[in-house]
Order: sequence, then C-alpha cells, then structure tokens
Amino acid sequence: MDRIYLDHNATTPVDPEVVEAMLPYLAEGFGNASSVHSFGRDAKVALENAREQIAAFIGCEPSEFYFTSGGTESDNLAVQGVARNLRLRKNHLIVGATEHHAVLEPAEHLAHREDFKLDILPVDNDGFASPERLASLVNDKTALVSVMHGNNETGTVQDIAALTAVTRKKNILFHTDAVQSVGKVKVNVKNLGVDLLSLTAHKIYGPKGIGGLFIRSGVKLAPLFYGGSHEKKRRPGTESVAGAVALAKTLEIAGLLMEPDFTRLKELADYFIDKVTSLIPDVVLNGPEENRVPQTVNLSFAGIEGESILLSLDIEGIACSSGSACTSGATEPSHVLVAMDKPKIEAQGAIRFSLGRSTTREQLDYVIEKLPPVVERLRAMSPVYQKAKS
Ligand SMILES: *Cc1c(COP(=O)(O)O)cnc(C)c1O
Repeated sequence: MDRIYLDHNATTPVDPEVVEAMLPYLAEGFGNASSVHSFGRDAKVALENAREQIAAFIGCEPSEFYFTSGGTESDNLAVQGVARNLRLRKNHLIVGATEHHAVLEPAEHLAHREDFKLDILPVDNDGFASPERLASLVNDKTALVSVMHGNNETGTVQDIAALTAVTRKKNILFHTDAVQSVGKVKVNVKNLGVDLLSLTAHKIYGPKGIGGLFIRSGVKLAPLFYGGSHEKKRRPGTESVAGAVALAKTLEIAGLLMEPDFTRLKELADYFIDKVTSLIPDVVLNGPEENRVPQTVNLSFAGIEGESILLSLDIEGIACSSGSACTSGATEPSHVLVAMDKPKIEAQGAIRFSLGRSTTREQLDYVIEKLPPVVERLRAMSPVYQKAKS
C-alpha cells in the first residue's frame, strides 16, 4: 500500500490543473503587474481577472479583495490592521476561544503590548459560540470581533450570520477566518454578514504562499507593511500573478467539486467514524455530528497521547495529525479541545484525520485495520488508562 495522506487540513497537494494554469505566469507571462509596458499590462490583466473570479466566488466586489501571502498574513492584517486603525476610539477586541494561532497571537500581542482589552468568546462542547454570550461581551469600545468559520481541528462550522447579527446592530467590525471552509462549504460574505474574511489556496489544492483578505468597502485598516502602492497600499509588495491565477483556478475547481466532494467525503468520514468507534472502546468524536466540514475527523482515544498514535501510524505509512499541525511536538492538549471542555484524558489522546479528494475507502480500511492494535498496545503501557479502567 502506498503512503496514505490524511492530513489535508494541514495542506493539500496542488491540483495539476492549477499547476497548468499558473505555469505561463512563471514563464513568458512573468511581468510585474505594476509595470507600465506591455509585459506589465499583461500581468495586470491576469491579476485583475483572477481578482474578479475570486470576488465572484465569495460574493464581493473585486475592489474588496486583496491578495496576501496566505491565511496567517490575512488574519494578522485583519486583526492588527483594524485594531490599530481604531485604537484612539476603541480598544476592545473579542476573539473566539477556538481560533487559529494566526488570530489568537496577534490579538494577544495587541493586549499585552499595545494596551488593548481582550475577551475570549467561549464555545460549547461541540465548539459553537453563542450570539447571546457575544452580546454580553460587546461594548462601545469594541473595535473587532474575530470568530472562525470552519474549525481546522474539529471541522465545526460556526453560525457566523447569527454572530454578525449581534455586531452589526452595534457597528462593530467582524472578521472571520474562512481558510478551512472556503471551497468546502458555501461561503458568501454577504450571507455571513462579515466585514473581513481570510482565505488561502494551499488548504484547497492550490499552492502555498497565496491567499487573500476580503475587506468590505468602507472598512479602514492600518497596513502591516509600507513600501509601495500595490493592493491599494493595504498590502504593499509585488503581487504573485502566478499565485493569484492559481487561487482563482483553485476556487473555480472547488466550485465544481464542492457538492460531490462534500457528499463523498461525508460518506467516507461517517463510515470511518462508525468503524473506529465500534472497533475500539473509549473513543469519542470531537466536534458536532452536523454543521461540520465532514472531511475533518477528530477522534479522542482516551488514556494515550495523540502524538504516540501519530508516530505509530506514521511507521505504517499513514499521515495524520494530533490537533493542529502548528503545535505538534508540544504535549499540551490542544487549546481548541480545552475550550470545548474535553476532559484531559480525552484531549491529550486526540488525533485528526483530515480526508481529501485522493482519499479512498481502501485507504480508510487500511487505517481501520492498523489502528486497533496500535491503540491497544499504547493503552497497555498507559498507567493513566489502566487506572481509569480499574
Ligand atoms: C492553515 C490555516 C491558517 C494559516 O494559513 P497559511 O496560508 O498556512 O498561513 C489560518 N487559519 C486556519 C483556520 C488554517 O487552517
């Protein structure tokens, strides 16, 4: 059996059609989109066509979409940019408890180093935040609320529209990190009611290093960089035309495959969850059964370390993740599962299998075969598990 890749939430292979679409802009179409001559004009046309396609996909105007280097930069630009622009009038921020570090860390930086007040919006056991709770946290000093759409660890799809209904009434800006939902479930900035939205190509079969931020017309923010008038001075730096074309192509393909992928991957994920939870005792699914990105399957194997399962599966040629890839190596349980109030014995034994277009039932059957002995062996060596069972 070839190696099995079940870590699509960390990154995905680039679709060959996307590679093909971007190649001309690495070769003869190499011009700088800011140049006045014909090379530049050709690049500019490709860049603006890509912007139009992407904007149409998420339901905004092309003038409201800004290219960045990816999700991390978009999140930072949204959080730091809005906060710094409003700082003299408003100094309060609210971020979700299960945010990606690309939102949490800039928010914490602003709180620790730039005198912002920061509140964390809690979530329930399935990872959902409540509009009532948000309403109790906002005040006239609240500059920005940032809550992610599809969670990278558990797949929970937040009801963003219910949350923006709270902030809109009070003229508070709302950002959502939609890196894990764009291209997998319908994402429309108007339906969500958001002012800012982050996305990236490499989680949906595009290349790394290209993403973007929707900034609703009229929303002001301070740039992170200075040094040119690219992206209307909000993101100076020569645009990656090949990257922009790739992102547009990625979304075009996602538009065609979203529904069939969703149905097929949900079926496979349900099959996998059902098998694993019936074959192995003391396993729970983290996250809701409905309102989720179905390809994200986060399972807790009580009493053992997720990291040990991951390493054992890696030896069998199976790639998955223990929680978020960015914090792998640390033995602390994931902040997402802690926020969902999972008991420590479960939170530490969490493994995320993230399925994708190449995933087959045969691959999952192979994992289903290899997993029980791994878990059994690790549990036999686990004093925590033995104690809990005695
Ligand atoms: C991967 C990811 C990011 C970071 O995006 P990059 O393009 O890798 O910088 C941000 N948020 C979420 C939810 C992610 O899954």
